[in-house]
Amino acid sequence: MQSLSNRAKILEKKPMTLAERAYLPAIFQGLSITLRHFFTKKATIRYPEETRPFSPVFRGLHVLKRDEQGRERCTACGLCAVACPAEAITMVAGERKKGEQNLYREEKYAVSYEINMLRCIFCGLCEEACPKAAVYLQADKMAPPRFERDEFIYGKDRLVEPVSPDTRSKRGIQLTAEQADKLRTQLA
Ligand code: SF4
Ligand code: SF4
Repeated sequence: MQSLSNRAKILEKKPMTLAERAYLPAIFQGLSITLRHFFTKKATIRYPEETRPFSPVFRGLHVLKRDEQGRERCTACGLCAVACPAEAITMVAGERKKGEQNLYREEKYAVSYEINMLRCIFCGLCEEACPKAAVYLQADKMAPPRFERDEFIYGKDRLVEPVSPDTRSKRGIQLTAEQADKLRTQLA
């Protein structure tokens, strides 16, 4: 059919040569690309055993801090959740009961507090919004890889700072001493 715009090009369909029919040029082209990649620098690393250098403004895994007496600082005010642009934070507030003064610093506390690490963009706005200095993004930890999506929902069991610092060091991916030192120097 005649094109209305008259811009259509009539292409001549040439018969394929023997080499083209055997796909030889395409096979050699593919092999040459593979061979070339043997001698170029690898684009991948053996994560999580290896990590790439972090940016000086890197913000990593969250931690819900305790005060100097070991009580949870978070009062479940919800400001972090409101500030979060990714809507990654959810929580349920509760009233502190009699005898729980040594567990929670104020009368209100977070019965549950969850961060969805798949939604989180590690912007740090939750940390900035918190009036109780309860939530921090650690510069020397990152969320480790997981196989299930559910495992990226971090609850209080993984967010609240353990009383013993040794337990804390087993959480998340710990940077090497050199990486942490370098980051600290860059941040200073
Ligand atoms: S770091 Fe940013 S995206 Fe992640 S939970 Fe905090 S406010 Fe939300
Ligand atoms: S972490 Fe801070 S801002 Fe978020 S609910 Fe707790 S006290 Fe409020």
